[in-house]
Amino acid sequence: MTRQTIVAANWKMNGDSKLILEMSEALNALTLKNKQVIVCPSAPYLANAVSVFSNQDIAIGAQNANEHDKGAYTGEVSALMLKDLQVQYVILGHSERRAIYGESSELVADKVAHVLGHGLTAILCIGETESERENGETETVLKSQLDPVINQIGIQAFENVVVAYEPVWAIGTGKTASSEIAQQTHEFIRGYLASFDTDIANTTAILYGGSVNAGNCQELFSQADIDGGLIGGASLKIEEFSNICSAE
Ligand code: PEP
Repeated sequence: MTRQTIVAANWKMNGDSKLILEMSEALNALTLKNKQVIVCPSAPYLANAVSVFSNQDIAIGAQNANEHDKGAYTGEVSALMLKDLQVQYVILGHSERRAIYGESSELVADKVAHVLGHGLTAILCIGETESERENGETETVLKSQLDPVINQIGIQAFENVVVAYEPVWAIGTGKTASSEIAQQTHEFIRGYLASFDTDIANTTAILYGGSVNAGNCQELFSQADIDGGLIGGASLKIEEFSNICSAE
């Protein structure tokens, strides 16, 4: 089963219009074969990014969306607005949103349902903390993050979900999961999806995220169940991110 490789840049609260322009120029010079590149800048730059990347085969993603269409939710951005801006993807359930903003898996499930309802694709982040892994709780944690989403949207709706496995202990720490650990965990996630529907499991892209860089991406991306990466820090460096996008 061949799945398209996806490389998604999560710029977090970094980057500006200059980086958007420079990244667009650098990525334009690459031949991206059977690979979907997604750039996810901060919300204020989404319209600019959609316009700058419009002539390239590069999609734009947001880093969050509210679970309501509109209303008195100061500071929030809705999926309806993202759709209007021609944003195609939305990162949801990132560990920073879970840990810093207290987003529960149930809220993340509501957001996924909402984003899908507007025809966008969700990049659903799941991952265990260091102590959860040390205590042998990784699989229980991953199931507990997936179950509310599966219950809310139904397994068939995973046609419009990309899963990003991001062990919390590997995010921004420089501690990448070894390719063996990452592959084992991806295999578990795919197997869990297969326990609901094998076709969905075979076609769902599962990205790895956590200190991916130009030096380790090739080995990670070549694992059977790793379909690309969600890249934080390294996606802000033009040459490094270009090299990651070029990895076979
Ligand atoms: C992330 O925050 O999604 C991420 C993977 O960050 P980093 O690559 O910096 O670890």
